[in-house]
Amino acid sequence: MLPIKTIITVIEDKFPLANACLWDFTGWQIKGKITINKILVCLDITNIVLDQALAADIELIICHHPLVFASDINHPTISPWKKKLYQKIKNNDINVYTLHTNFDKDDKGMNVLMAQDLNLENINFLGQEKLAVVGNLNQALSVSTIIKNVKNYFKIEYLQLIGNQHQIIRNVALSGGAGGDAITILPNNVQLFITGEMKWHHIIEAQDCGINVLLVGHYMEQKFVDFIYDFLNQTFNGQLEVIKYKHQQPLTII
Ligand SMILES: [Zn+2]
Repeated sequence: MLPIKTIITVIEDKFPLANACLWDFTGWQIKGKITINKILVCLDITNIVLDQALAADIELIICHHPLVFASDINHPTISPWKKKLYQKIKNNDINVYTLHTNFDKDDKGMNVLMAQDLNLENINFLGQEKLAVVGNLNQALSVSTIIKNVKNYFKIEYLQLIGNQHQIIRNVALSGGAGGDAITILPNNVQLFITGEMKWHHIIEAQDCGINVLLVGHYMEQKFVDFIYDFLNQTFNGQLEVIKYKHQQPLTII
């Protein structure tokens, strides 16, 4: 059992809010109970996630994507579905805390951890906004071999490829989630870009520039749950119970 303040202070010391993108709504979303026994870590909050949290007597939900992208729940851009969900969380006195772009852009955050797991070396951030990381493989691999590794790592059955699966790759860029904006700032030596999803105009730009791209699906950020689960368990060893929410891939390929 720990005071919520203690938990949030430790998290914010590790992943400062000041590092988030200006447009982001990372950090506190909803304040509830002040004493915490159990935390649920998830990518997104939905009714299914919330019902599981309620059934398990969770007092704090830590999610990657902000539930509300506005300072006010009554903002006209917030959907009725979200307003209802927000109210249900409030009624149950549950805390919601988000670790979003301040986690993505951290030196020990999402993009760096994924790049390390995929055996990239000499990892550096790209651009002032740290939209993506770039690194090199210690041994050149074909795109098709990298596809096998990526599918295995993210536990996915399919992905989308822009480019040529026979090309041999040494330099790779990576951005978790929707990383299309990074296409415009990729250095010339990057031969492969791995991200979750991209808009059409970025897809045709990548194709026209001869950059190979793997679109893994936004579900790749399920890795957030593993990373934060490990971080909380290492930090608060035995003082709290931490539960992972295992999201189901919402898309079916037919
Ligand atoms: Zn995301």
